Amino acid sequence: MSEHKDFLRTIVEEDLKSGKYKEVVTRFPPEPNGFPHIGHAKSICINFGIANDYHGHCNLRMDDTNPTTEDTKYVEALKDAVEWLGFRWDADVRYTSDYFPNLYEYAVQLVRMGKAYVDSLTEEEIREYRGTVTEPGRRSKYAERSVEENLDLLERMKKGEFKDGEHILRAKIDMSASNMKMRDPLLYRIRNTDHYRTGDEWHIYPMYDFAHCLSDYIEGITHSICTLEFENNRELYDWILDTLGLKVDRPYQHEFARLGINYTVMSKRKLLELVNGGYVSGWDDPRMPTIAGYRRRGYTPESIINFCDTIGIAKANSTVDVAQLEFAIRDDLNTKVPRVMCVLDPLKVTIVNYEGSEELDASYYPEDVPKEGSRKLPFSREIYIDREDFSEHPPAGYYRLTPDQPVRLKHAYIISCKEVIKDAEGNITEIKAEYYPDSKSGMDTSGIKVKSAIQWVDAATAKKVEVRLYDRLYRNEMPEGLEDLNPNSLKVIEGALIEPAVITEKPDVRFQFEREGYFFADPVDYTDAHPVFNKIVGLKDSWAKKQDSGKPAQIAPAKPEKKVQIDGEVAPMSEAQQALFDRYTGELKLNSEVANTLARDAKLSSFYEEALTTHSSPVALANIIANEVARELKEQEISELKFNAAQIAALVKMIDEGTISTKIAKQVFEEMVQSGEAPSQIVEAKGLVQISDPAQINPIIDEVIAKNPDNVAKYKDGNTKLFGFFVGQVLKATGGKANPQVVNELVEQKLNQ
Ligand code: ATP
Ligand code: MG
Repeated sequence: MSEHKDFLRTIVEEDLKSGKYKEVVTRFPPEPNGFPHIGHAKSICINFGIANDYHGHCNLRMDDTNPTTEDTKYVEALKDAVEWLGFRWDADVRYTSDYFPNLYEYAVQLVRMGKAYVDSLTEEEIREYRGTVTEPGRRSKYAERSVEENLDLLERMKKGEFKDGEHILRAKIDMSASNMKMRDPLLYRIRNTDHYRTGDEWHIYPMYDFAHCLSDYIEGITHSICTLEFENNRELYDWILDTLGLKVDRPYQHEFARLGINYTVMSKRKLLELVNGGYVSGWDDPRMPTIAGYRRRGYTPESIINFCDTIGIAKANSTVDVAQLEFAIRDDLNTKVPRVMCVLDPLKVTIVNYEGSEELDASYYPEDVPKEGSRKLPFSREIYIDREDFSEHPPAGYYRLTPDQPVRLKHAYIISCKEVIKDAEGNITEIKAEYYPDSKSGMDTSGIKVKSAIQWVDAATAKKVEVRLYDRLYRNEMPEGLEDLNPNSLKVIEGALIEPAVITEKPDVRFQFEREGYFFADPVDYTDAHPVFNKIVGLKDSWAKKQDSGKPAQIAPAKPEKKVQIDGEVAPMSEAQQALFDRYTGELKLNSEVANTLARDAKLSSFYEEALTTHSSPVALANIIANEVARELKEQEISELKFNAAQIAALVKMIDEGTISTKIAKQVFEEMVQSGEAPSQIVEAKGLVQISDPAQINPIIDEVIAKNPDNVAKYKDGNTKLFGFFVGQVLKATGGKANPQVVNELVEQKLNQ
């Protein structure tokens, strides 16, 4: 369950507690008229997430009432997206079109009750008669038709005796209602078009407001969760169900704020325009904000779910910074993927004093990633480095290879430049270098100081790859349409060179290319003969830095990647920053990414230093400050924060002492951001103290085991993957308060009893 209980879960819990419903049933009801986007992902996470949390179920329903725009390819895309995110719908996919006969019966019933009539005004007249927000509308003269006449006309509309727009069916409610939706709303309209599922069976199609509440009712939905723009439709939702007397176990509508992200358009109509106009390669173009697009780009389902979780569920619309989504994928991949070397813009280096060849051992993962695995890096006399990593006339603060400055080849030796070879136009074509035999990584006795380590590949064994670098699709923070497209959103590099193990060993499909970012083997175009990698995201939020530098947002950067790097320094570190960085990675043992974040940001490093004086837990403090605190400090000064360094130190102390779990700490932190209360107070007031006592945990485990006999049987039959299920259920039952390690041990004991 999400760490915070949001307002929707609060409602669901109350409804279950009061006995209003025995089981929670939600639905995700997309119209199959386009591929689902990240906004839909949020809705999916909410609907399926709530059903999972409260042991109910969630239906996947195609809301297919409009024959002109819908298609089975979109149905497939929607199913794919839900499954890829890891959710399972209840039973079969549902279709509103399957309910057309039932809906028609309900319409006939309304007509019989005198609550609906066939109107024959033109579209324009209908609009005019409706009135305005300040003026009441007036009723059409056709509202006086008798029930018999209405029934006859409706029947003939259904049979296809009329042209589109000739008649419509309307509810008879109140033409002067202050809610415009209640002014005799449209229930059915004529559409003489084939439907992708029902063919030419129907000539009338129900409107959203009529179909939706009734479909919810038919399926036994309890909580019909939708976005805020449907707030005014709620009255009609209720009117239809109430008028038809559908009162027992009926659904209720609840609205939440739709997701909007800057630099992103989120309307299927606009996305369709991009696809149809050939502005992108398809719905799954890695620049598209569709789930298929993120998937092809290399995003993981976990990162998208985490993103949806962290942005929360609100009742007021707001725009989320796209950097937050990028943070989510970076955060996820950081602890998962192998680090490898790829040179995007190769420059040949001949090491004149090296003879023969060797293989260097190199771990795929840095020390702080709890994964094992290494590969051999071939090394010989000719190698390639990135053109940007050599400068003949370096600017101040350039820390890579220059005629006067040696550099380390990552996992290998230190080299220095002896000669620069140029072509007739003066372009550098090759570097002649020398290596220091006693400088080998891990056994360096050379005593030579270098300021950075760069990636390289061995010329004889490197593989040529295509690399696709993506930038934001729109250059405008609040894009409207095609005019805001970023002309440089895709850059294809044909001749990048990668170390051979990536292709031959395939340790993974996602990688961190050292100092370049995270990349994904394109699932469609990749072959071993022609490998293709998509850039998922850079290592740092380079965009935010550029915005700060005063450039107007409209200017798309020609080369967005590589602005700030871990070892590199296009924006070089000052000496003071470098000193901090060295201390953080050395004495304090921080990983270079976290150290880099802290060292480069004066606000963060001073906050960090202060926190350290209260509680000396360098790694844990650094992590929370480089992530959580950094997010808060993005838009505020330290003096504006409601919490201070000592309180963060106190929070970390509670984690270190086992009083609270890391998960709960995040919840406490959010509370500190809002209220500025001391963490100990928050923990006490909310009863968040971690539970480690087996006497408290065991009964919960017993309950979970008792409730899930099927899964216990499966587990005992050898499906050990279910272990995580039991642990998860127990943690969930304690609201995340149980000590995960203790739960793991106890669950293991119980299940193997
Ligand atoms: P769009 O406006 O992008 O075309 P839509 O609302 O027409 O989207 P539907 O297929 O009708 O798309 O939506 C299915 C479900 O997803 C609805 O419950 C809708 O409220 C929800 N949804 C759509 N867009 C968002 C969003 N940006 N944030 C959260 N939920 C969304
Ligand atoms: Mg819609």
